[in-house]
Amino acid sequence: MKIHLLPDTLISQIAAGEVVERPASVLKELIENSIDAGATICDIELEQGGLKTIAIRDNGCGMNRTDAQLSFARHATSKIATFDDLISIDSFGFRGEALAAIASVSHVTMKTREQSSEHGYEIVYQGGLHIADGTIGCAPGTEIVVHNLFFNTPARKKFLKTESTELQHCILVVTTIALAYPTIAFSLTHNGRELLRVAATQDSLTRIGALLGTQFIRDSAPVEFITPSIDIQGIIGKPGMTLSSKRHQYLFVNGRPVSDASISHAVVEAYGTRLPARTYPLFVLCIDIDPKEVDVNVHPRKLTVKFAEPGRVYRDTLQAAKAGLDKAFLSSISMRTDMTVRPRATDPYASIASSSNVKDKHSIQEALTFTEAMLKVSHATDDIKDTRLVKNSTLFGQLENSYILMHSSDGLTIIDQHAAHERIQYEKLKAQYEEKNNKGTLPIQYFLVPLQIELTAAEASAYNKIETILACMGFIFEHWSGGVVIVQAAPAAFKEKETVHIIKSLVSEIIEDSASTSALPERLLKSLACKAAVKFGMPLNTEEQYELVEALEKTVHNATCPHGRPTRLLLSLDELERRFYRKK
Ligand code: ADP
Ligand code: MG
Repeated sequence: MKIHLLPDTLISQIAAGEVVERPASVLKELIENSIDAGATICDIELEQGGLKTIAIRDNGCGMNRTDAQLSFARHATSKIATFDDLISIDSFGFRGEALAAIASVSHVTMKTREQSSEHGYEIVYQGGLHIADGTIGCAPGTEIVVHNLFFNTPARKKFLKTESTELQHCILVVTTIALAYPTIAFSLTHNGRELLRVAATQDSLTRIGALLGTQFIRDSAPVEFITPSIDIQGIIGKPGMTLSSKRHQYLFVNGRPVSDASISHAVVEAYGTRLPARTYPLFVLCIDIDPKEVDVNVHPRKLTVKFAEPGRVYRDTLQAAKAGLDKAFLSSISMRTDMTVRPRATDPYASIASSSNVKDKHSIQEALTFTEAMLKVSHATDDIKDTRLVKNSTLFGQLENSYILMHSSDGLTIIDQHAAHERIQYEKLKAQYEEKNNKGTLPIQYFLVPLQIELTAAEASAYNKIETILACMGFIFEHWSGGVVIVQAAPAAFKEKETVHIIKSLVSEIIEDSASTSALPERLLKSLACKAAVKFGMPLNTEEQYELVEALEKTVHNATCPHGRPTRLLLSLDELERRFYRKK
């Protein structure tokens, strides 16, 4: 006999592999249980990104002794009894496996008390084993504390990311659920520091504003599409307010946060050509549909759903989003068509061909062949060393508002204005940073009216990591609270109207790639240098061209930009002679 039944604890650990992927998935299951229990307050405390502790306390219905004991058994649920219940489900939970799975891979203590009961009940599990229980005094509701997640599954633990990445995932879970449930008050604390607190409200816009910033609401169009078979409501970002990732796309189907590529696509489709390539719109959309029309049991962590008629939902979403956009932005859109054709201001690699200054196809072609030839030449020439440029040289001018051409003693030098300026700004910011005080080398400009930046909880936690570094680079911040940062001054290289955007985009970069916490100052230096540098395609007058060349000369490591691309190429007289067959 080779076949035997697996012990229960092992089955739960196997199930945990699907249900409990990381601290954020534990948190999601626990918050959903609180909501199912009718809670109106949900307080969450995390330590070390949830790796050490995930604690959640609610004021929901609580459980009596028998239910509390049963709740840790596999497939134990109070939410469905028959298959028919599953078809018209209106609770988050139904699989009855979350608590069993979580308890099998951590140390869990649950304290719970029914609203009508005189005392509460405590129960402790470790690695799926029942350790202790007993009657205790506690407030009505339920408190669950999960310690040392994955302590007995080291393979799973190895896949976890840094504390800050895990925290970001947890913040996203809380933000997402809190968006869908404005009538529930939420708070989130990490390592003793409060990251988020939202009061209960009847108004979903108030909640969206509290979590994602009131600016987001001002820059968005309301969506309201109500039919007998489907309701689609929410807000959708105006054209131009887009991100390079899908981070702020919140979709809820019958109150469940889900992701659905087809619906995201329908929203993108609604923008048509109003959306620049490779950017993603921001939206919060709630789709309410007859529960019989969607299957929620298609993913162990309930992250996706399946519609009975996906084509119809797609068309309805497209129509809803389009109507919302057209109504709110039709008039302003015609003025803003330039947005899609101009190279993005922050993109240092925007090609010359898309530059708004290019006059005709012919000159683009010429410019391209020319630079191509130059690139070949650069291979032929030995590494360009950091050299003197200005002495004995004449400036010919700018090519395609992007390259500065000059005659130097050994030939024709072509300078990439963005790469060159990037190196200059990088070295200046670095010098300032290394001084580690505000009396450094960089001129600072104070703003007449200090700038205000609204941050979401996720952004605030990323901002915390970079505030001191930015301060060393010359930014001056006022003490901040409640998700608003006040900027009093910035290095003079940054224009006032760009500063808010620059800080916001640094924060997004940190969130998007929070894995690489190493060398954070270096990363910020490179990003800021790129943002402070003149753009490719920007016209410069002769004086400005001279200044740039002179500054480049005075800068160390001036042969390449901080990302390692050359700042200039040399077409030597020697090379010219060979190319014109003057020399054998
Ligand atoms: P499911 O949510 O799928 O039913 P869980 O394992 O998450 O399965 O929870 C098991 C049961 O424990 C739930 O059905 C519910 O009755 C009870 N329960 C869990 N968390 C809470 C809570 N915070 N408040 C009240 N009851 C809870
Ligand atoms: Mg559950």
